[in-house]
Amino acid sequence: MRSLTWKLGGALLLIVVVSVGLMAYLTNLSTAREFQQYVSRGNMMYTQSLADNLGDLYAERNNWNNLQERLESLPLSTSQRVIVTDSSGVVIGDTAGEWLGRESGDIGLSNGTPITASGYEIGDLYLLTSSDTGMGRGHMGGRTSQPMPVTVASEGDFLDRVNTSLWQVGLIAAAVALVIGLVLTRQITRPVRALISGARHLTRGELSYRVKVKTHDEIGELADSFNAMASSLERGEQSRRQLTADIAHELRTPLTVIEGTVDGIIDGVFKPDKEHLFSIKEQATLLTHLIGDLRDISLAESGQLKLNLTSTDMVELVRRMVSNYEVTASEKYVRLKLQEVTQVPNIRIDPVRIEQVISNLLTNSIRYTPSGGNITVSVKIEEASLVISVADTGEGIAPEDLPHVFERFYRSGSSRARKEGGTGLGLAVVKQMVEAHGGKVWVESKMGTGSVFSIFLPLSTY
Ligand code: ADP
Repeated sequence: MRSLTWKLGGALLLIVVVSVGLMAYLTNLSTAREFQQYVSRGNMMYTQSLADNLGDLYAERNNWNNLQERLESLPLSTSQRVIVTDSSGVVIGDTAGEWLGRESGDIGLSNGTPITASGYEIGDLYLLTSSDTGMGRGHMGGRTSQPMPVTVASEGDFLDRVNTSLWQVGLIAAAVALVIGLVLTRQITRPVRALISGARHLTRGELSYRVKVKTHDEIGELADSFNAMASSLERGEQSRRQLTADIAHELRTPLTVIEGTVDGIIDGVFKPDKEHLFSIKEQATLLTHLIGDLRDISLAESGQLKLNLTSTDMVELVRRMVSNYEVTASEKYVRLKLQEVTQVPNIRIDPVRIEQVISNLLTNSIRYTPSGGNITVSVKIEEASLVISVADTGEGIAPEDLPHVFERFYRSGSSRARKEGGTGLGLAVVKQMVEAHGGKVWVESKMGTGSVFSIFLPLSTY
């Protein structure tokens, strides 16, 4: 595996090498060009001022006497050579002394700088440099000797030196950039390594492990998401353990009753009469309910609950449910009534599941409302929802219990609720079923006054 450090480092090295190389190459090109122009201009000015000077020399005496001595006294570099021809093109002065008396055309001299005296052209001046002086050669062959541009050896040296220092600076810059880059790369990859190590801890089942990344960039965000994921996994694991313990506990109670009753009958302590058989049957029914509710909750929680959605008249459904429970309520001397409702539109729901929800709410309200109490069911429209409420004048729910009543196996005043025959799953089923329909549940309650349980089903589903 090629590590991220090396990938980033390699990319950085490439960028540094390419940009420093390009910079050195382009600087070199422009330096050479600028320098050539600078030298050319210098030579041109020097040639012109020398031509003026020689013109003055001629004008002083009206002849070319002492020209050669004058030329030899010029402060020229070893690579430079000055040649003067008279107006007929014959060489009359040569700092190298080589071509004196020769025709300029024969030795390939052309385009000289004119020397003038009193307005007359009295000759030409040629400034040759090492590249075109033809030092040591008899003549210039057919080559046209251009006095300019020139490249003098020392000037070439200068360009070489510029080049060398350019490369040196470039290399130092590259090395510095690389060191800084590697340090930065390590800093960037450190949180990534922390994340990798965090993932390994989670894989080993250490769900309480959290990565410590404090950066405020995308990797910091990734670390936050990672920690949130770990927390959620941990919570999930905790609730799974809790659920397993709760299920074991809930199953044990009815099984103990069944076992105890059957043992009593076997030992002859109880008669196998209707009363004892009924008790066994009651506990078996409770177990069946418990298992059915658990299955529904787990299906709904994992999103696998299949809903048979059909367009349903909710008023009709609620009215039917209320009449189903009228007998049970009246047996307890509790008044159960459906509030007058206005017409509401049909909505698409799974009637079996929603009947289960309303049934659980009605069972609870009858169970927790003492004799002489009232239960009022209503169906209405609120904003974009169809709201079904079951309000009772029962014992109410303590404020500390209220946020938990929709949790699995939560029972407020547990001994009482258990005695009443509840599984502790009724409201958890209500919540899961309503949420599977895209709705929500709501409860308001006051101790001693009563409770109102409401379910909100989205109207958009009709
Ligand atoms: P259970 O099977 O015990 O009724 P639920 O999930 O249906 O379980 O209800 C959870 C708890 O909420 C109950 O134990 C009870 O304490 C409380 N509760 C539910 N409905 C009512 C109500 N209408 N009035 C008072 N308390 C209620």
